[in-house]
Amino acid sequence: MANKIARLNAREQDPTLRAQNFEEVSYGFTADEARLEASRCLQCKHRPCVGACPVSIQIPDFIAEVRDGEFTKAADTIARDSLLPSVCGRVCPQESQCEGSCVLGIKGLPVNIGKLERFVGDTALAENSFKPVKAAPNGRKVAIIGSGPAGLACAADLAVKGYGVKMFEALHKPGGVLVYGIPEFRLPKDKIVAREIAKLSALGVEIETDVVVGRTITIDSLLDSTEQGGEGFSAVFVGSGAGLPYFMGIGGENLNGVVSANEFLTRANLMKAYDGGHDTPIFVGKRTVVVGGGNVAMDAVRTAKRLGSDAFIVYRRSEAELPARVEEVHHAKEEGIEFRMLTNPVEILGDEAGRVRAVRCVKMELGEPDASGRRSPVEVAGSEFEIECEAVIMALGTSPNPLIASTTPGLETNRRGGLIATEGGATSRAGVFAGGDAVTGAATVILAMGAGRKAAVAIDEYVAGLERFFWFE
Ligand code: FAD
Ligand code: SF4
Ligand code: SF4
Repeated sequence: MANKIARLNAREQDPTLRAQNFEEVSYGFTADEARLEASRCLQCKHRPCVGACPVSIQIPDFIAEVRDGEFTKAADTIARDSLLPSVCGRVCPQESQCEGSCVLGIKGLPVNIGKLERFVGDTALAENSFKPVKAAPNGRKVAIIGSGPAGLACAADLAVKGYGVKMFEALHKPGGVLVYGIPEFRLPKDKIVAREIAKLSALGVEIETDVVVGRTITIDSLLDSTEQGGEGFSAVFVGSGAGLPYFMGIGGENLNGVVSANEFLTRANLMKAYDGGHDTPIFVGKRTVVVGGGNVAMDAVRTAKRLGSDAFIVYRRSEAELPARVEEVHHAKEEGIEFRMLTNPVEILGDEAGRVRAVRCVKMELGEPDASGRRSPVEVAGSEFEIECEAVIMALGTSPNPLIASTTPGLETNRRGGLIATEGGATSRAGVFAGGDAVTGAATVILAMGAGRKAAVAIDEYVAGLERFFWFE
């Protein structure tokens, strides 16, 4: 029986070694391992796993193809719904998405869908087997703002439909959080991300970097016709993410040695500060405190450790409430990261030169559940203590940058700064669509891709509607 085989996990780099390098943690499956793991799939008729994937990858189909050794066919099956299998196979929170709905998980362990998808994606990249299939050009142009997963997914689907698609990216490299946030040891940039993004170029998508929409150009200038001096795009998709970091608002946050996780990881990843061949400044102390308990905190603390610091997590709730993926917490612990739970910083203390010397903290205990359903932390009276450190990294979450909304008349936002958009991505401005973190606030790669795909459908309908309007006018 297929489900009598134990779930296969991919081999990993030794924790002691990997805590000192930026090589990838997981080695992924070999072809034999992938075929064996694929043979566990029951090929369920009702396909619960597909319904739990935000881009509806036809999971049983591609797994059957892997089982039969038809790896190129499997890649083609996935490519109908996602251009980034090597990325998603690595970073999707599968446990709460596809694998979370796998029937084998009811009494045992689900099929390792993530590692199978990664195997298929990596094999296709190695064999260069991606074949761009697209409709003939339809003469219409769409602009995409931001080249993260939301923008990439929207751009790919529109290009396939025959649109001329141009992406505008503020940074010098496309990819959004895939290049500037998630570290090399979880998602290799040149080997994987750049090559997945190259598929967009193969589809004819143009990517212009170093363009800050709202500064270099505006949404109005993109939508204005060429006769009006504009760029003449029929519609715009905003996938500008949520890159504005929160701070705690406590004393000492302006001291030298305090940074947001976003800045720290951007310097480490995109600006290659981890690589001795680059002179990007980055600071870690002998001891580094990372405040927060999400995936971003795990990435920051593991990066600080690899840069030679004794790095630890300070989190105000208990381990059960950690929002980070279980796998990331497990990897961090294996690498020697210390977790100081039920601990809340109240002040960062500096030396005479204005540099961090310690964090003053209080102990917390858990009280009643709050709006998120998690038990809220309550301060334990008289429990103050200090943690000595030279660097503090704040990983408390992010919100959308207000630049685009503030430079686009009629574009409405909610109280958290997210653009208000319908399920299909339509905003309060005709012709302007939005999706991903720019709408929801910080979420996941695959939810952003799902939003980009839905917006591509809505944009296509909108542009077709414009043409009917002009036809009848
Ligand atoms: P982004 O990826 O943020 O891309 C937005 C892009 O828009 C950026 O490139 C930005 O430079 C550009 N931009 C912004 N403003 C402008 C402008 N005015 N003009 C032009 N361009 C602009 N999710 C997971 O699923 N799994 C994980 O393991 C995971 N780990 C994460 C680790 C870190 C450190 C971080 C920060 C996030 C992580 N996430 C993870 C979350 C995930 O990466 C995001 O939810 C996802 O990238 C959102 O995609 P997006 O396209 O909406 O935005
Ligand atoms: Fe699962 Fe993500 Fe792949 Fe969908 S894209 S099947 S959620 S790993
Ligand atoms: Fe296979 Fe699990 Fe999907 Fe069933 S739910 S088809 S076993 S991956």
